[in-house]
Amino acid sequence: MNDTAIYVHVPYCKSKCGYCDFCSSPDVSTVDAYVSELTRRIKAYKTEQSVKSIYFGGGTPTYIGADRLCLILDAILSSYSISNGCEITAEANPGTADLNGLKLMKKAGFNRLSAGIQTANESELKALGRASHTVSDGAKLVENAREAGFENISLDLMYGIPKQTAESLDHSLDFVLGLNPVHISAYALKLEEGTPLYRQKPVLPDDDTTADMYAQINAKLKANGYNRYEISNYAKPGYESRHNLRYWQGGDYIGIGVSAASLIGNVRYLQSPDMKAFLDGKAPDTVETLDDAGREAEYIMLHLRLSTGIDKKEYKEKFKVDFDKKFEKQIKTYADGGFAVNTKDRFYLTDKGIFVSNAVIADFI
Ligand code: SF4
Repeated sequence: MNDTAIYVHVPYCKSKCGYCDFCSSPDVSTVDAYVSELTRRIKAYKTEQSVKSIYFGGGTPTYIGADRLCLILDAILSSYSISNGCEITAEANPGTADLNGLKLMKKAGFNRLSAGIQTANESELKALGRASHTVSDGAKLVENAREAGFENISLDLMYGIPKQTAESLDHSLDFVLGLNPVHISAYALKLEEGTPLYRQKPVLPDDDTTADMYAQINAKLKANGYNRYEISNYAKPGYESRHNLRYWQGGDYIGIGVSAASLIGNVRYLQSPDMKAFLDGKAPDTVETLDDAGREAEYIMLHLRLSTGIDKKEYKEKFKVDFDKKFEKQIKTYADGGFAVNTKDRFYLTDKGIFVSNAVIADFI
């Protein structure tokens, strides 16, 4: 593929959320050395591929300050061939970006902001251990982002939170819709081993209630003009995340920073989360070279999560296999049962199929 995307991992956060197992820490003692090593690596890495999207994730990129983010972005923009209209996203959390900082970021070239709102109920923020912001900080962040000139704003919501109810979720949905973002991601809370929330053993809504919450989100966002283009992601027409679509469509990407993954051709690389090793210049490890069977399984897994599903012509070109013939039995079962739609060109899951997508995908791979 002659284009790629760049992911920059910023492993710092104002405080550590109770459920978080991402590579992030409130300890910023390494931040200047980290930014300098990031820019060194960006300038040293050579690629002929043009960059179609850039994504600063974390962690909380905005926590390290706009000046540092602009420095890193500048290194990328001056080192690679950047496609026209390149989508340049920074993740942000409420309480970590002020108006001046956002204006600087916009001027430097950032054109998309993805903000972690999660819920509009203070008690749920508390249950999640998100100690670094309040609900109104979230609204303020969006207001400042708009004033700074960001139109392409995505907001994150969570469901399946301890003590969350259909009513409190509805309140969060109204709050988020009131902020009028062009993109919304909604993820179910997962208890990850080793996190403070996991150790607290909270009572989570049961599976049926969580599935009902997913249906509630789906119905409300669709009724408000958002299309679900991936299991957990909704967008107004034309605002699907190009960067995330690349991951789901199996395109190349280069990850820079601790714990960042890259996919270049058939080879997957992973930088260890060890900050010292990163600062010492340790290169990413090769973790996997995908063979044809692995790529085919991954294609199915990722594409069935997308509303566009499997493109049969593309599938045949890539894997030299006729999708209809190979999966005749599964296609019939799921299409007849109303879990999927099978047309001449595509096979994709319906809402009913999306609710049981893990089982359906497992049946294909
Ligand atoms: S803001 Fe995000 S990355 Fe940072 S601690 Fe919370 S969940 Fe983790």
